[in-house]
Amino acid sequence: MAKHATYDPYTMRDPRTQYPQPDFSKQPQPAPGLAADMVPKPDHGETSYRGNGRLKGRKALVTGGDSGIGRAAAIAFAREGASVMINYLPEEQEDADDVIALLTGEGHTVFGVPGDLKDEAFCKQLVARAVKDLGGLDILANVAGRQQFAKSIADLDSAAFQATFQTNVFALFWLCKAALPHMPPGAAIVNTASIQAYEPSDILLDYAPTKAAIVAFTKALAKQAAEKGIRVNAVAPGPVWTPLQPSGGQPQDKLVEFGKNVPLKRPGQPVECAPVYVLLASQEASFITGETYGVTGGHMLP
Ligand code: NAD
Ligand code: MG
Repeated sequence: MAKHATYDPYTMRDPRTQYPQPDFSKQPQPAPGLAADMVPKPDHGETSYRGNGRLKGRKALVTGGDSGIGRAAAIAFAREGASVMINYLPEEQEDADDVIALLTGEGHTVFGVPGDLKDEAFCKQLVARAVKDLGGLDILANVAGRQQFAKSIADLDSAAFQATFQTNVFALFWLCKAALPHMPPGAAIVNTASIQAYEPSDILLDYAPTKAAIVAFTKALAKQAAEKGIRVNAVAPGPVWTPLQPSGGQPQDKLVEFGKNVPLKRPGQPVECAPVYVLLASQEASFITGETYGVTGGHMLP
């Protein structure tokens, strides 16, 4: 089997059949999960994403850049001409090595920095490293996230609730706070919300409110950052085929049908989110700030 998915995202065709459709096989993994162990392999654009110089010379930090939507954003940013630093958890080194090898092999500048974003001191160090190694910071793409389902509030303990808020909300605050003083006018922050911000699942009682917080945080920070000529937006994906889901994001019986309930009747692939991250990071989005952009297969944002 090919190491990476090899779909063609550029030829006009019916989007419903463009990528794998349910049913999928059960495939439990421990969190945070590896893209390398998924069947079918997610498409992060490895063999397909074509850059057009839209981010030439930019310096970008992407959290969660080892896999899933973050990997797709990192590949797209690099191929659009940016130097990129990705962050991930130490357990994900295998996925990180895969994308770093791919992009450095193409001649792009890519740094990998493992570390836990639940730690405020690490968030500050990560931004300092990005500024030093990249020679500045023009794009902060906050893609890392924690999603672990719990059937009932009775099963959700304080440690889990706290870890989800720390990863999804506090880290966002710490990273943005550390990054903004280094970002010049024209720079952009792109956060990652979710359809869950608007249509929370019963089994995501901690995760869904973190995503609602990200939408409000994005709007409030956009108003502040406008004073510096910096834009702040969010992407809100619907179901996307990434290791987040088999590693506790969904029960395995729901994973089998993952994506079936959206109008396009399949999950999105990470590469299908990448063009939105690129647009929001680029100067072409010069009049777009404080927005949340859905990539949902038709399960629309309100
Ligand atoms: P993913 O598992 O590939 O990416 C999530 C990443 O978060 C991991 O790779 C990991 O590196 C990072 N992460 C988690 N905890 C961390 C920590 N404590 N410190 C540092 N890094 C940490 O899955 P994905 O689906 O691509 O997730 C990316 C983002 O997209 C998340 O914010 C997620 O909430 C959001 N999202 C995903 C979906 C979906 O269906 N997959 C839908 C809506 C939103
Ligand atoms: Mg990962």
